[in-house]
Amino acid sequence: METILFLAHTEADGTLGKAALETLGAAKTLSASLAGSTLVVGLVGAQTQSAANQIAACGATRFLSVAGADFSQARYASDILAIEALGKASAATIILGPASSRWNRVMAGAAQRLGGRIDTHATGIAAAEGKPAVTRWYYRQRMEGVLTRTQRPWIVLLETGCGAAWSGEPGTTSVEPLAITLPALHTTVTGIQAPAADAQTIRPDANLLFVAGAGWTKKQADGQAHADEAEKLILGFLVKAKASLGSTKSLVDLSGEGQAVLKFMTHLNQIGQTGATPRHPKGLATCCHGEEPHTVGWRFVNERRAINLNAACSWAQGKADVLYVADSFAVMRKVNELLAAK
Ligand SMILES: Cc1cc2nc3c(=O)[nH]c(=O)nc-3n(C[C@H](O)[C@H](O)[C@H](O)COP(=O)(O)OP(=O)(O)OC[C@H]3O[C@@H](n4cnc5c(N)ncnc54)[C@H](O)[C@@H]3O)c2cc1C
Repeated sequence: METILFLAHTEADGTLGKAALETLGAAKTLSASLAGSTLVVGLVGAQTQSAANQIAACGATRFLSVAGADFSQARYASDILAIEALGKASAATIILGPASSRWNRVMAGAAQRLGGRIDTHATGIAAAEGKPAVTRWYYRQRMEGVLTRTQRPWIVLLETGCGAAWSGEPGTTSVEPLAITLPALHTTVTGIQAPAADAQTIRPDANLLFVAGAGWTKKQADGQAHADEAEKLILGFLVKAKASLGSTKSLVDLSGEGQAVLKFMTHLNQIGQTGATPRHPKGLATCCHGEEPHTVGWRFVNERRAINLNAACSWAQGKADVLYVADSFAVMRKVNELLAAK
């Protein structure tokens, strides 16, 4: 009989975020498919009552919590004690958490303390032949592995965007607080320094992936390159549409060759065989030829459109749902105008 602990930390506003709710969805499904299993909730945060109320209807038998000012932000020394206490108090055999940066940092240490094993970057967990099994991708998402373990507790961190978030009516539930005695803490979290939302171009949760290809920096019909205007059009669109920015390898490699470049573009933006494989519902490729090493990175993007001057570009070979044979500069200028007017 498995005891499944859904283990989450609250967001700054005291609620549970999308990644946590997706993990709860997976925990619920797993619990429903493992006969005799129980679902327990474990929460960590400055205060956890709001988060517990948010998921009051999830069907958990217990709501455990470690709360207080010392648990408001990520800190290894305090988080690990909270997780250890929740793991022990729940007698969990399976601990499921979201693969947030906070949990990714501390959970392997917690597995060690609980005498368990951990699998990170899991994309799913489900019952197979009456046993829990974790799904994980290998070799840049070219192979999918399914793993089972006999060791308990088994800690699994689930990636975001791989399953439906749990949803239900909020309610009121009673929370069992656990008291933790913290050692002298050497780390004080004084705040978070993060780039402004507009400066951050990689947004995994965005609905749209906007890919810029090398064509943006190539000579145009007037015989000139227009990298400055390209930058303005692309950044203007990202800010208005809250899209995530992807790139081709050719474009990010240009910076090393001293050519006209888009300054905000780095290798982290690269999509494809030697780049990332994001999971946005929609994608728009601009000034990108759509060659296979690039488009393999689009395998999880469901609705694909491309803008290219060349009607015979690779997107036209069945790789896009819609190909606009047009000048990306002209199209994006107009799109930005329409978005600004909205
Ligand atoms: C082993 C290996 C791994 C690779 N891995 C990757 C990878 O991970 N990711 C990746 O992206 N590539 C990868 N590549 C490179 C890939 O094969 C292509 O070379 C690259 O994707 C081409 O980039 P591009 O489409 O931006 O540039 P180009 O091929 O130069 O295409 C530019 C396009 O812009 C269009 N264009 C120009 N001006 C305009 C305009 N005004 N309006 C509309 N369209 C315009 C042109 O018609 C052209 O189609 C890899 C290659 C190899 C060999």
